[in-house]
Amino acid sequence: MTVERMQIRFAWGAAGAAAILLLGAPGSLDGRQPGARSAAGGPGEAAAAVGSHVADRPLVGMGVGQAARDTTWTVTTTGRFEFRSDPRVGLHHLLIDWARAAGDAWPSFAAPIVERDGWRSVLDDDERRVWADAVDAYRLSRRRSPVHDDGLIAVRDWAAGAGTREAIPAADRPMADAVEAALPIYRRHWWPAHDARNRAWIESVAPTVAAIEEDVVARLEAAYGGPWPDDRIPVDLVAYAVPVGAYSTAGRVTISSADRDTGMPHAVELVFHEASHTERLEQAIRSGIRQAFETAGGRFPDRLWHDMIFYTTGELTRMLLAEHGRPGYTHYGADGVYVRGERWSTQLPILERYWRPFLRSASGAEDARRSALEAIARALLAEREEG
Ligand SMILES: [Zn+2]
Repeated sequence: MTVERMQIRFAWGAAGAAAILLLGAPGSLDGRQPGARSAAGGPGEAAAAVGSHVADRPLVGMGVGQAARDTTWTVTTTGRFEFRSDPRVGLHHLLIDWARAAGDAWPSFAAPIVERDGWRSVLDDDERRVWADAVDAYRLSRRRSPVHDDGLIAVRDWAAGAGTREAIPAADRPMADAVEAALPIYRRHWWPAHDARNRAWIESVAPTVAAIEEDVVARLEAAYGGPWPDDRIPVDLVAYAVPVGAYSTAGRVTISSADRDTGMPHAVELVFHEASHTERLEQAIRSGIRQAFETAGGRFPDRLWHDMIFYTTGELTRMLLAEHGRPGYTHYGADGVYVRGERWSTQLPILERYWRPFLRSASGAEDARRSALEAIARALLAEREEG
C-alpha cells in the first residue's frame, strides 16, 4: 500500500493530527426514536458483564481466524449497524497511540493523549510496571498502519471478539498479551470515562442513523452499483482512533468518540462514509469510475473515488434527512475537504451538475449510473485540457 492510499483512507477529519477534545457527555440531539434498540442498557450493565467476557467469549466451532459474534459490548444495534463500546478495542487503540507518543512520533502520527499527563501519579507501583510493559510491547505497532497492516487488524479483530488469537501472526501476539495484562488497569482508571463518552456518542447518533438508514442504503447501492454488506456493520467507539478520528478496514468501522470532527451533526454522514469503504461498495464505485474514464479516453484522477464517497454520502445524508423532516444539513466536506483541496473548485460544480441529479433520481439502473459517471469523466477531462 502506498503512503498516498493511507492518507486517503485517513482523510475523514482535519488535516494532520486532529485535536482530541475532552468533551463532556453530549446530550442527545435527536432523542430516542424507534428503530434504534439498546442491547445492553447503561454503563452499569456493561460493568456487570465484565469478568465473564473472556470465559464467555464463544470461539468454538468456527473457522480458522473467526470467532462467533461477541455481543457483550454491543450498546445498540440499528437495522444496519452494531454500535459497540469495548474496553479491549479501546485499550488496543490507546496503546497504539501511547506507544507512538512514547516513541517521539507525537504529534504527527498519534493523537495527543491526555491520560499520559500524570499517569505515573495515577497508577501505583505495580500498575506502573504492567502499564509500561504494555506500552513497550506496543512498540511493535509503530510505523504500521491500523488501516492496512494485517497484523494490527488481526489484533484489533481479536480484541473485538471477532477473530481468534491464533489468527494473529506470532510476532504480534505480545500485543494481545499486553492488552490482557493491562486491561484491569485500563478498566480501573480510564475506561469508565471513555465508556461513558462512547455511549453518549452512540446515544446521540444511532437514532438518526436508524431513522434514515434503509433509504440511504438503497440509494448508496444504486449510486455505487455494489451491495451493502449482508450483516450489520460493527462500529467500535473508542477514545482514540487514528489521528483524524475514524477509519474503516476489513469490514469494521472505528470511530473516536472524543474527536470534535466525529460528533453530530456530521456523525451520521461519517457512519455512512466509513460504511462506503466496505469492500463491495468501495470496489463498485472505483471500477465504475475506471470504466467511465476508459470510455471517455483519459486517465482518472487518483483521488476521485474517495472524493465521490465524500460527496455521495454528504449529499444522500442531506437529502434523506430533509425527506425525514430535518432540512438544513450541510455536507461535512463543505467546511473540510471541499475547501481544503484545490481540485474541489473544479470538481464540485461538476458533481453537482451530473451526480446530484442522478442521486436524486434514485435510479438503480446501470446505464443511468454509467452515463452520469461518463458525463463526470468527460467534464473533468475537458477541465484538465483547459487548465
Ligand atoms: Zn474515507
